Amino acid sequence: MSRLDYSTQLIEQDDIDGVIEVLKSPYLTQGKKVEEFEVALCKYTGVKHAITFNSATSALFGAYSVACIGPDDEIITTPISFVSTSNMFVELGAKPVWCDVKIDGNIDEVAIEKLITSKTKAIVPVHFAGKAVELEKIHKLAKKHNLLVIEDAAHALGSSVSDKKIGSLSDMTIFSFHAIKPITTSEGGAVLTNNDEYAKKLRLIRSHGMVKKELWHSDMLTLGYNFRMTEIAASLGITQIKKLDRFIQARHKIALYYNERFKDASLFHVIKQKEQSVTSHHLYPILLDSKIHPFKESIFKELQDRGIGVQVHYKPIYKNSFYKETFGDFSLATADNFYNSEISIPCHQKMSLEEAKFVADTIFEIINKYKEQKKS
Ligand SMILES: *Cc1c(COP(=O)(O)O)cnc(C)c1O
Repeated sequence: MSRLDYSTQLIEQDDIDGVIEVLKSPYLTQGKKVEEFEVALCKYTGVKHAITFNSATSALFGAYSVACIGPDDEIITTPISFVSTSNMFVELGAKPVWCDVKIDGNIDEVAIEKLITSKTKAIVPVHFAGKAVELEKIHKLAKKHNLLVIEDAAHALGSSVSDKKIGSLSDMTIFSFHAIKPITTSEGGAVLTNNDEYAKKLRLIRSHGMVKKELWHSDMLTLGYNFRMTEIAASLGITQIKKLDRFIQARHKIALYYNERFKDASLFHVIKQKEQSVTSHHLYPILLDSKIHPFKESIFKELQDRGIGVQVHYKPIYKNSFYKETFGDFSLATADNFYNSEISIPCHQKMSLEEAKFVADTIFEIINKYKEQKKS
């Protein structure tokens, strides 16, 4: 069996045909295809505006910028995320205030309130692995303290909370279309918002702050960048979003199989899903019991050697050298523990149940060895 990645894209003939059509057309960057993809994102999520970017990282930068996040502001966020969630507001001069997570890797909504100060400007949660955070409680807190909620939903396109799709529920929501995210445009991202003013500013910021007027006349209204999505990328987005529900179904099938296989596992456990919500199943994490944390590196290596492309999500952001040097040593009990226990195993739309069986069998075989090792 060839190597199984923890996640991978699925590109089909219609994706390829769409890209070729764009390549033969006169327009290669931000045109009709970008508009069409933005409309498709609005339709899928029920949001008013979708503004695409060339990555979720630039989309996060755009969202934080139009929210006027800057020096002296504090942002309450999760350390269990990809670094760019924090990087982009640090870039704007704001300070990360990391809140501890729960055992499912999502921000602990109960721990947020005591972190709020007069400098707090926004709460930035991440739907880890696609499982929705407690948005309702976070919104309540935000309202009480007059804070913005900006969701980093890079894992969560297609996830929903009590029948409402993630994308239209907070001040702004960011998606990623990086190769292995729920759908892909190769690289790409978007900010979704119901706020007209934010939308207008986001469109300016992604393209040099400029507006076109008559003839050759244009005007630069604000500082801006080139964060535009290409027509090639947008074409992929258009064909991929049509398959999103099918992709999620396929990942769901693999996840259900794992859930069943792992329900009585003795040295690791899996994350419980919420009854009334849909998850994109962007990742399928297993969490090692603390007894075998010391063996995580060997377990990881053995799984890789056996052709199982595992990964770890995530080293807490504050453990990176840059953050230690800039903000000092920092530690949160559950986030640290989560990092010591988490391994993401293959779960994607290209996998067969037979491959999932191979993954599960191999995991049991390898992890059970450590049980015996403990006894002897
Ligand atoms: C992937 C990811 C990003 C960055 O997305 P890019 O499109 O690669 O810039 C940000 N936040 C989270 C949680 C991610 O998983």
